[in-house]
Amino acid sequence: MKRNARYDVAIVGGGMVGAVAAVALGQAGFDVALVEAKAPAAFDPAADFDLRQSAIAPGPRRLLDNLGLWARVADSRICAFTGMKVWDAGHEARLFLEHTAIGLPELGHIVENGLVVDAAWQALDTVDVFCPAMLAGLDIHEAFVTLHLDDETEVTASLVVGAEGANSAVRDAVGIGTTGWSYDQRCTVGAVTTERHHQHIAWQRFTETGPVAFLPLSDGRCSLAWHADDALAAELADLDHDAFCARLTEASGGVLGRIERMDTRAAFPLKLMHAERYVEPRVALIGDAAHVVHPMAGQGVNLGLLDVAELVEALETGREAGADAGALTYLRRYQRARMSDNLAMLAATDGLKRLYGSANPVLRRLRGLAISGASALSPVRQIMLHQAVGLSDSGARLLR
Ligand SMILES: Cc1cc2nc3c(=O)[nH]c(=O)nc-3n(C[C@H](O)[C@H](O)[C@H](O)COP(=O)(O)OP(=O)(O)OC[C@H]3O[C@@H](n4cnc5c(N)ncnc54)[C@H](O)[C@@H]3O)c2cc1C
Repeated sequence: MKRNARYDVAIVGGGMVGAVAAVALGQAGFDVALVEAKAPAAFDPAADFDLRQSAIAPGPRRLLDNLGLWARVADSRICAFTGMKVWDAGHEARLFLEHTAIGLPELGHIVENGLVVDAAWQALDTVDVFCPAMLAGLDIHEAFVTLHLDDETEVTASLVVGAEGANSAVRDAVGIGTTGWSYDQRCTVGAVTTERHHQHIAWQRFTETGPVAFLPLSDGRCSLAWHADDALAAELADLDHDAFCARLTEASGGVLGRIERMDTRAAFPLKLMHAERYVEPRVALIGDAAHVVHPMAGQGVNLGLLDVAELVEALETGREAGADAGALTYLRRYQRARMSDNLAMLAATDGLKRLYGSANPVLRRLRGLAISGASALSPVRQIMLHQAVGLSDSGARLLR
């Protein structure tokens, strides 16, 4: 491919979702340009773990597998988990979901975000990469789009895909509105050494100030995700190492014994966001550019990867019918395939967040029901099963 030629698809954002989309569309025979503001660091297996880790569910893993990316990921330090234990700090309610419930050897894998990005960037051989470059302007014409990059380069394509995260420049440029709110919470993350081994289980304890989760790592440590209201998160950030570990031991109910070490930590603000629509003529949004979900269910990137599978499916269907990549009819297929699934996950996690953030006595009594495995309606169970199976009933080629 030649730079500045007309591409089928120009993707803005080369994070986990955008980079995987570029690989998938390139492998599907589309001419693809990828615009990314910042070149990702090469994955270094000798360095300590990336602070950002994701629980990749079997459905999205199948997508990575079909693209030849999973072999690169699995070759490194990932950790399978075979069970998830969820319990309530104030009730007896507990839920244990095992891999046998879905007939697979594991429920998912904990993977460093940087590793997924690196695996995808190593596979961009059929893609023209514009990096470092930011989208500075966008013109939508009837038959094509023109991307104006901040280094004065122009890229033309039949379709522009916004994959540049929650603050999507593509979404703003075409005026797609969003709904959403801040949770006034932060999630503190990092690798922790616990007294007892994680036993390849993902542990999550719901408390009134937010859930505390331990995700198993391959070296025996756990990746912490401690969701806490802003005031508590600020207090935690000021604690020295020993005081923080003591607070975490207490918040976890000592489920893995004492928290012994946590060398590095960082906290991320949490919000919900959903775009009013994912598509316009010659425009599509995927990943966090289209939806941001509370991370308590570990679903954000999983939803984004499922978006990729369905976008590829829709564009391939359009191509077979003789349409170009920006044809709205086929983009709408992508939107139909994904929006209700994404909204269901946003609603389930938002409901749980509210249930736990409320002092209302009726809601407090409902908490046990939310977790109890005996309840077929248990939202926690539903989220966990979704997490476990991903979109296994989708007909999309890349998920089969
Ligand atoms: C604390 C926390 C824990 C989480 N844990 C999980 C988990 O366990 N499982 C899970 O599935 N999800 C999890 N998530 C969510 C997950 O991290 C996100 O859903 C995911 O990173 C979104 O990927 P993305 O590629 O859509 O966007 P991003 O990761 O935001 O990537 C966007 C990319 O676009 C680039 N960019 C931005 N603007 C421009 C521009 N104008 N021009 C060019 N490039 C641009 C950026 O440099 C970046 O590389 C978690 C989130 C948080 C906050």
